[in-house]
Formats: sequence, C-alpha cells, structure tokens
Amino acid sequence: MRYSQYLLNTLKETPADAEVISHQLMLRTGMIRKVAAGIYSYLPMGLRSIRKVERIIREEMDRAGAIELLMPMVIPAELWQESGRWEQYGKELLRFKDRKETEFCLGPTHEEVITDIVRREVKSYRQLPLNLYQIQGKFRDEIRPRFGLMRGREFIMKDAYSFDLDEAGADVAYEKMFQAYRRIFERCGLRFRAVEADTGAIGGTSSHEFMVLAASGEDAIVSCDSCQYAANVEKAELRHSGQTAPPPAEERKKVLTPARKSVEEVALFLGTVPESLVKTLIVQTDEGETVAVLLRGDRELNDIKLCRLLGCNEVELAPEEVVAAVTGAPSGFAGPVGLKLRILADFEVRGMADFITGANEKDAHFAGVNTDRDFTVESFADLRQAVAGDLCPRCSEGRLESWRGIEVGHVFKLGTKYSDALSATVLDDQGKERTLFMGCYGIGVGRTVAAAIEQNHDEQGIIFPMPIAPFQVLVTMLNPNDAEVKDAAEKLYGELQDAGVEVLLDDRDERPGSKFKDADLLGIPLRVTVGARGLKEGALELQERQGGERTMLPVAEAAGLLTDRVRLALA
Ligand code: ATP
Ligand code: MG
Repeated sequence: MRYSQYLLNTLKETPADAEVISHQLMLRTGMIRKVAAGIYSYLPMGLRSIRKVERIIREEMDRAGAIELLMPMVIPAELWQESGRWEQYGKELLRFKDRKETEFCLGPTHEEVITDIVRREVKSYRQLPLNLYQIQGKFRDEIRPRFGLMRGREFIMKDAYSFDLDEAGADVAYEKMFQAYRRIFERCGLRFRAVEADTGAIGGTSSHEFMVLAASGEDAIVSCDSCQYAANVEKAELRHSGQTAPPPAEERKKVLTPARKSVEEVALFLGTVPESLVKTLIVQTDEGETVAVLLRGDRELNDIKLCRLLGCNEVELAPEEVVAAVTGAPSGFAGPVGLKLRILADFEVRGMADFITGANEKDAHFAGVNTDRDFTVESFADLRQAVAGDLCPRCSEGRLESWRGIEVGHVFKLGTKYSDALSATVLDDQGKERTLFMGCYGIGVGRTVAAAIEQNHDEQGIIFPMPIAPFQVLVTMLNPNDAEVKDAAEKLYGELQDAGVEVLLDDRDERPGSKFKDADLLGIPLRVTVGARGLKEGALELQERQGGERTMLPVAEAAGLLTDRVRLALA
C-alpha cells in the first residue's frame, strides 16, 4: 500500500474527549472515527487490525472443532419473548418496530436465535456435539459508552454456542473453548489471565473471564498470592472466619456529630477509625423492596452478592426521600437501632462489638452499639467487596492481591436455561427426548485490539505485536524526489509484496522528521528507511519499533531478511 494514496490521516494533537491511551492512539493513527456516541467507523488501518484478530479467532475456533455461521443482527421480539428476556433485558436492548408494527430488537447476543436454529436443525444425538460461532456486529445501548472500541454501543463480537447431550459433554466443550481462548489471546500478543466470573441469574460456578492486565481496565480483579485462585471482585467470595463478637462492654449512648455524615468524617470527629463504625446502607431492589445492609465502616457493598441473597436483579442506594421516610433522618445518619426494615449484615459485623452507628436522627450517632442486644439482624452473609489483603477463599495461607483488567473474552456454562425455554431437545440413543446442554463463549474483537494497544505503546505511539499489526513492514522513502532513493524503495516494496509481506510504503513528499514521527505513532513493527546516505554504503536502515534496535541491511539482502523477520515473529 502506498501511503500517499491510502486513507490515512494521523493527528498531532490528542483528541480532548479520549480518556484512555488506546482510544487516543486509535484516533491519532486514523484507525477509527466516531460517528455517534459508542458508534465508530473502522478506517482502513483499524480494519486491518480487526481482521487480523478475526483471522486468529477463526483459525483457533476451527481448530477446536467449532463451525462458523452468520445470524442476523435484527431479531424478532417473538424469540426474545420465548426466552423471557424481552421483559428482563432492560435498556441495553434496542427495540423497534417495522412498518407493519412488528417488534424487533438489535441483537446484543444470540442465544435465542442459535437455540432456535438448533431446535429446528438438530434432532438426534448423532449430530452432537455441536459448537457454532459467528463474528458479527452487536448492538448494546450501553449507558456509558466510552473508551472508543473498548465500550461501544455497536461492536464486533465473536460469539459461539455449544450444544451437548449432557453436562459431561458440556464440560468438555467448555474446556475446549477455554483452551482455544488461551491460544487466541496468546497469539494476539496479550498478557492476560483467566479469572472466575459471576454467573448472574444463571447460577453455578462455571464462568471465566479473560482479563487483559491494564491499569485502565474497567474491571477489578483479585488473585491469591499463594494458590491459583483469581476472580473478578464482583464474584470473589470471602471466607467467613466464624468468629463471634465479644460480649458488650459498653452501654449504648447517643453522641452528637453535627454535619458529620461520611464514615471518615464521623470517625475523625469521634477520634476513632472507620473500622470501628458500622455503616447502614438503605438499599432498594428492582422489585421495589427497601432493606438495610450493614457493613464495617471501611468496606464496600458488593451489589451482586446482595442481589443473589435477595433474589433480585438490581439494587441501588435509596434516594434521599426514601432514606428520610424510613429512618426519620437525612442520609448519613441511618442506623440499625429501632429501624423497621429487614436488616442484613456482612459476616464481618458479626465479629464486632461496641461499635458506632447512625442514630436515625439528624446530627447524631450511637456509640457502644451491639448486635442482638440493640437490634436484630435477619441474616449475616458475605456481602462486601473483596480487597487486597483479604484471606484467599480457596487455600488457607494466601492473601488476595488486586489489579485491574479489561475483559476481552468470556466463557460461560449455560446449562439448559435457553434449551428449556425454547424446547430444544434431541433424541438420545434410547429414543428418549433430552434437553440440550449449552455453553456460550464471547470475544470482543475491537476491545481486543484496544486492549493490545493499552499494553503495547510508549510516549511516541503504538507498538503493535506483529500478529495484529495493520502492516508488518513500513518502508520510509526519505526523499521521493531523489531518483536513486525512489528506485531503491520501490524495488524493496515490490520484493516484499511478492514475498507476501504486508508493507506500507511511505512515499509522501514530507519532511523526514514528520515521517519518522508518524512511523513511531503508527507502530508498524519493522521500519526500513531508504535514504541517500545509506544507499551510498549499499545499505538500508532497519529499526524495530519494539526496543528501537537499529541494524543496517545490505540492499540486496533486505527483502529476504525482512521476510524472515516477519515469519519468525509470527511463528
Ligand atoms: P462487560 O462486563 O464489559 O459489559 P459483558 O459481560 O456484558 O461485558 P459479554 O456479554 O460476555 O460481555 O460479551 C462478550 C464479550 O464482548 C466481552 O467479553 C467483551 O470483550 C465484549 N463486549 C461486551 N460489551 C462490549 C461493548 N460494549 N463494547 C465492546 N466490546 C464489548
Ligand atoms: Mg455488558
């Protein structure tokens, strides 16, 4: 490809609305352009990387025995009504009507469509196991689309669905996908980790997320410093130490805390630490229930754990009016004593005595509060967020460490959730009807490219891993008006193309400085400079983007040496 004829405009300035580095660099290198919030065009440079990730995915999915198909993006409401998700899915599902007033949605995921295909096409156990996949545009009306391709509304996903006769078969399918995912992300040049993930309403423990380690990641992860345990904090269980509180030593007494609302303010004012407070969160469920949740003062609520305990889909902190109505005080002063709500508490609170809580009265708290004596907890449960330093829930020795990650892939055992709802059955070898066991497996293609850039860049720009680089070699023609330079660069360009190397020829009539700047920004792994000075010595300068190593290549050998380098980097 000739740069002068290509659609490639680099930007010198960092776009103001791009917060994370991958988003900034994808805009600056002309890989993507925004069309609307969370909706992007993939310009040629961006598309080349996307296609490379897709190719790696296809190769590994095919190798694992999966079969590619393509489903529509527009899905009739009917199918989603059959699974019950038409009502459940919420606002991420973009619903609309056609001219005949028939309802449709844009597919955010395709369990319903694939299950419908399989129930029609697959009748016998002999057709199993089956794993079907597609690479397709998805639409999710995310509340907060951001970070470019990382959290878009329209994005490309590889989604696969496995079908087996029984659970053991589904386990094999899951394991195969798990291994395929490892290979895919390794081949993309990513440093990642598979972590245990929440399974949401479906239950069970069989879900893993593939997390690319990056400070900008939206997910918080914990891992044990001693065993293999790693989990999304959404999921990370905590061990209940089993301790009970020492008997109360203090009488309960009211203390004034004028305008001190937050745990930190109250602790400071009373000359103590947040750990000796119990905070009372007034929480509402999506089913309209209001409950109180108690946590040690310095802890955070884990919404997912609370939802699971309450059997609801969502919880949120109650608005000010509700807090005022149930506690009789403005928020910041809620406490369990005398509260007429269901009270749920984190395990840790069980081990506390003589603590401080809100007094359900403006500008007042209670000190010397004790569970059982002063109020009743309906149940103690694991409700808080895991943090670094917590004991590992698996092994007895380890402590948890925390880090951040970008979820690029997700594997999930579905059981019979969708096959039950849509009656997807086959006949087994006894002629008996059996409900299919399913798994689903997703990879965010654009997010994978973005994650790779998060991990591979420096101040100058992107440092593409060879397997997903838009081009493998950049040939920089220093002075296109010098006939000798032009001929040598053109010759190398032709030879590399003949050898099947993906090469971008920078034949623009620009100053060398600006060509080098763009070269650093674009991050093409191998860069060869063709200039008059080198040619005098019969050599071309090769510079590797990663590490910056420079070597001189004899002109006659240059194409062969570069081709070998590319092959080696892909092997
Ligand atoms: P997240 O928690 O990040 O919203 P998810 O659990 O909703 O992800 P899945 O439904 O498992 O994601 O989708 C499979 C994969 O699709 C994810 O692992 C991720 O790589 C990608 N993905 C999901 N949502 C988006 C999005 N809004 N933009 C880009 N990629 C996405
Ligand atoms: Mg999501």
